[in-house]
Amino acid sequence: MDRDIARRHETAAPQRVPAEPAAAEGTPRTVFAAAVPGVVRVAEALAELPVRRMLRAPSQRVAYQPWDDARKNAFAAAVLQHLAGACPATDDAPAALDQTAMGIVAENSLNCAAVHDAGGRLSYATNTNGADARPDGAEQIANNVQGTHAEMVLLDQFGAQPYFGISKRCCLLCANALRIAGVGSRGNRGDLFDAWKFPTYIIADNARLTSFLGADAMAVYNAVKPEDRLAALRLVETNLKQYQR
Ligand SMILES: [Zn+2]
Repeated sequence: MDRDIARRHETAAPQRVPAEPAAAEGTPRTVFAAAVPGVVRVAEALAELPVRRMLRAPSQRVAYQPWDDARKNAFAAAVLQHLAGACPATDDAPAALDQTAMGIVAENSLNCAAVHDAGGRLSYATNTNGADARPDGAEQIANNVQGTHAEMVLLDQFGAQPYFGISKRCCLLCANALRIAGVGSRGNRGDLFDAWKFPTYIIADNARLTSFLGADAMAVYNAVKPEDRLAALRLVETNLKQYQR
């Protein structure tokens, strides 16, 4: 019945019926538009009036999710699951540059040294404050933020590089950051610390942060208030280990 009305109208005045390729033939809107195109156009114009947009705005404001225990748990679980898939622990495969790093800080030390070789010019960083052996002619890159692991100091200083020598295999979070930057290393121990600091290389870039946290954790992150997002990053830096099962 409706189709007949539409067809009759098309026969009478086909030039007045605009083509609507996006709508499927025979949907109520198509039929109605074919029968009374002027009414539809007026309705569509009204819908776009600024007043209508203003009235509609409050209901479309972003409703942030609370950064409560349930979301902390969901966020931490999602990050841990992402890390397990993206950064499995590896065997140790030290290269010559890693031997250089072990000459600065012993491999069995709690501290760590990382070395970058720019065509024979060495730069290094440690997560201690001085008093380490220094390779001849090497430049020490200052570590101004307590808790920043040595290889993250180098990442922020030099950006993506082919390889960083490290005095021991890196921790899980450093391994994840180096993976995103495409920096080679001797390997990943797969463990977490209570004190770690995000390199600027990761947190200053949304795509890299997404790659770091994983899409599921990023969805939780994006759903909470901006100040709660900072708390989420702090959770990764200081508390993630507590959420491991
Ligand atoms: Zn680390």
